[in-house]
Amino acid sequence: MPNSPASILLIDDTLENLQLLASLLEIEGHRIKRTTSGMMALQYAQLEPPDLILLDINMPKMSGFEVCREFKSSGITVDIPVIFITALDQMENKIKAFELGAIDYIIKPFQEKEVLLRVKTQLTIQAQKRQLLAKNQALEEEIKKRKEAEIEIVNLNNQLKYQALALEKLATTDFLTQIANRRGFEQLMQKQWEQLSLNCMPLFLILCDIDYFKQYNDHYGHLAGDEVLILVAEVIRSQVELFTDLVARYGGEEFGIVISGINQEQIIELIENIRQKIYLINITHESSSVSDRLTLSFGLASIIPSPEATPQCLINRADKALYQAKANGRNCYSIYQVIHSSVIEQN
Ligand SMILES: [Mg+2]
Repeated sequence: MPNSPASILLIDDTLENLQLLASLLEIEGHRIKRTTSGMMALQYAQLEPPDLILLDINMPKMSGFEVCREFKSSGITVDIPVIFITALDQMENKIKAFELGAIDYIIKPFQEKEVLLRVKTQLTIQAQKRQLLAKNQALEEEIKKRKEAEIEIVNLNNQLKYQALALEKLATTDFLTQIANRRGFEQLMQKQWEQLSLNCMPLFLILCDIDYFKQYNDHYGHLAGDEVLILVAEVIRSQVELFTDLVARYGGEEFGIVISGINQEQIIELIENIRQKIYLINITHESSSVSDRLTLSFGLASIIPSPEATPQCLINRADKALYQAKANGRNCYSIYQVIHSSVIEQN
């Protein structure tokens, strides 16, 4: 601080000079360390770095220039201001002193007032530098804290997004079969609908129903019924996974499969594969009126999504086709024909 006591190191080979300077500065309240040896001065400064150094040039063994060079080459003392105080008043010496890193230059014989003023000025500058450094550090600390807070906010946001996604997944998944539920089905279908209406591509829907499922439940119990639902969901998923990820439990024993990008022949083949697979698994169903084992009925419909129509149109069509398959004796599929909108062609 400008007027607060500082520690000052005095280096001069003339004892009288040292004493005079020391007493002058001690009156101002500064703590003084003095030495006639450049070597000793270097050691003092390393052990206890002063706030300011007053340095003579003409000294035996080690000149003030050499001492200054050493101060400026050490990390501990490099920033301590050095004022030369010397009888050498030639310009070349002044220039050399400043080139070596000195901050000021006082000519002997010195005026006391001048020494005090120059010392005070340098101590003030030093104090201001320290204040600036402290402010800078505080600022950097503040910036660091803010960045950490920002990272924390981003992490929290990500956690919230993840939780929201997990909740959404939970809300759109059927607990028993782990495929999409009705809500998931409607959401995903709406997405596909919007996408395909841009490309004018047909969207296919298969509605698939377990034949005489109520009778199966009554005969074998609800736990067995649940196992059948899980199995059928798994078979459907394994058969269609190459084509679509939109397989859903549409109702109690009814499943929906939404597919695009393949033709009707491929879809009929797919339906046959599912039907065959379930048939070959051979789940005994003694209460079925159509077979000795569990069977499925399918209704297939397609539509080219457009703003005039809605996904419900496609669902209605597939539902009609499924109804027809049931009417046709079950364990089969039926296709809704657009041309004869009121007629459902039986397979
Ligand atoms: Mg001297």
